[in-house]
Amino acid sequence: MPTVVPTIIQPSLAAILALPPGISDETPESLAAWFVARGEPSFRARQVLDAAWRTGAAGPEEITTLPAPLREELVRAFRWDTVADSVLQLSDGGATEKALHRLGDGQFVESVLMHFPASAGHRERTTLCISSQVGCAVGCPFCATGELGFGRDLLASEILDQVRHAARRVAARGRRLTNIVFMGMGEPLLNLDRVLEAVEALNDPRRFGLGARHITVSTSGVVPGIRRLTGLGPQFTLAVSLHAARDPLRDVLVPLNRRWPVAEVVAAAREHADATGRRITYEVTMIGGVNDTDVDAQAMAELLRGDLAHVNLIPMNPVAHTPWTASPMPVIERFATSLRAAGIETTIRHNRGQEIGAACGQLAADHAGAPTPAVVAHRRERLVAQSAAALRGERSREPVPAAVSGARE
Ligand code: SF4
Repeated sequence: MPTVVPTIIQPSLAAILALPPGISDETPESLAAWFVARGEPSFRARQVLDAAWRTGAAGPEEITTLPAPLREELVRAFRWDTVADSVLQLSDGGATEKALHRLGDGQFVESVLMHFPASAGHRERTTLCISSQVGCAVGCPFCATGELGFGRDLLASEILDQVRHAARRVAARGRRLTNIVFMGMGEPLLNLDRVLEAVEALNDPRRFGLGARHITVSTSGVVPGIRRLTGLGPQFTLAVSLHAARDPLRDVLVPLNRRWPVAEVVAAAREHADATGRRITYEVTMIGGVNDTDVDAQAMAELLRGDLAHVNLIPMNPVAHTPWTASPMPVIERFATSLRAAGIETTIRHNRGQEIGAACGQLAADHAGAPTPAVVAHRRERLVAQSAAALRGERSREPVPAAVSGARE
């Protein structure tokens, strides 16, 4: 039976590409070439990129070291900010800040800023979680973004302007961003070219200048993308959204598993760890009575035993329209104990920003409007039946989501 979920009505990517490029799309070399083509010295690029990335200038008008006609030309040629507007919501006493960003074509994405005060053995951190796509094709049923369906890929500038936006807000409080994670809306490895462009800009000392080890790119298991990353030998952290170690259950929780089964995903991640020497982070959203059983803990322990890996167990954020809730903490602790007994480093994370819907895509989903009660009822019924079948060990017979099945091998 076809899935009936609300989808974002989207103009094509062509509509956004018809607008002037974002200044964040420019590399020092491309911008220097732009100036040289106008008979200007190449060092002008440095002045502009400093203003965009370091001083937090609101636009080229504020770059007073440039002649006025050049400033006007920059205003016409580039979008200084590809985020047209942002609405902020605070929670956790101001330690978690969610931004709903409106893009140039009216689509919405989210970023989440989280402040972690210094604690025993840990320095103070300010982490920004950013989106790589509008919506998501993977359709994980515990995720509000998955419920939205796929909108479009983000441009590198749209990814980066979430960072510039947050960096300005953080700087106004006398802090700086210390970590950036690609764990917001979208599957980063299904928009890999632009994600790599964005990572390069974040890491470039002439632009954002954040050390690669402070950047994490996550994937729900796009095996060709993991292999491509391995070939590039990056020093950023790769995080894999695992959620279950048994195929029948992972087919339901991460529908991409029907195309790239869990053993293949972990094998690709293992090769990545071997080639880069970097530990893989595995994320597991803990869903009460669904993926938190002793059988699941044992399956995960067997799958990851001996790997260069770290597992994060995260209680499920409440998401509208699912029959599921977070596993109770004693159950999560028992799961963690099983993994640790197998020699796997495991951390229990606490979810942030529940009162503002910090589950990725929740604000955008609210913005898209609620599905009808009939759709919600159907969705809940389907998930209950699917997770029960998965617990009996039956593989899903549903097709791989269309946008995923077309992903490049
Ligand atoms: S959890 Fe990640 S991969 Fe799954 S639907 Fe949500 S955004 Fe997409």
